[in-house]
Amino acid sequence: MITETVASRLEEVNERIARASERRGAGGEVSIVAVTKGHSADVARAALEAGLRALGENRVGEMEGKVAEIGRDAADWHFIGRLQRRKARQVVGLADLVHSVDSLRLAEALSRRAVEEERPLPVLVQVNASGEESKAGIPPEEGIDLIESVCDLAGLRVEGLMTMAPFTDDDSVLRDTFRRTRALFEEADRHLDRFRGTHLSMGMSNDYEIAVEEGSNMVRLGTVLFGERSYD
Ligand SMILES: *Cc1c(COP(=O)(O)O)cnc(C)c1O
Repeated sequence: MITETVASRLEEVNERIARASERRGAGGEVSIVAVTKGHSADVARAALEAGLRALGENRVGEMEGKVAEIGRDAADWHFIGRLQRRKARQVVGLADLVHSVDSLRLAEALSRRAVEEERPLPVLVQVNASGEESKAGIPPEEGIDLIESVCDLAGLRVEGLMTMAPFTDDDSVLRDTFRRTRALFEEADRHLDRFRGTHLSMGMSNDYEIAVEEGSNMVRLGTVLFGERSYD
């Protein structure tokens, strides 16, 4: 039952992504991170059965629970939430990609743990491209230097950038946020040897089509696939 619902929602989402890519006029795959936070392990299993592979969680404890129920190797585990430095060790063991590296101090903590555990950690640097005070992320003005510092840390592989747009239906605000992040992504890719511009993680349920039009190649989708969750 859940599996069928998720599969048909995913089909619709894939069509919308394909149309947005066409409007953008550039080819290339857009990958989907199924954001299962606030949902049960059964919902996460339904996502995997529907053909999704990457599962996104924003709390370390919840992620740990799902990993235990579903299996470390049964999915790609993406950590997308705000991360406290004291949880760095846990995350290094659990995550295949951390989207939310939003300060050098956090990056250093992850680096130390990744080196200790001899487990290189792929990360994205989170950019606060809208300048909202409530949002995590590095300001784009400081961006390139900070990204370079993160790239220089042992044990981390910087594979791209992530941003969250403000919650608004004002398209121009959304587009500005995504464009600023993409400009920084391209600058980093051109100028920083150790930066691998693989993932540009932008777009959630309410704005993913615009994000794809603006160059996103990784969208993080919860509500549009699974409905409302138990918390926000
Ligand atoms: C919850 C969350 C999402 C998914 O949000 P939806 O609006 O349900 O698609 C995406 N990214 C981050 C960082 C989140 O915390």
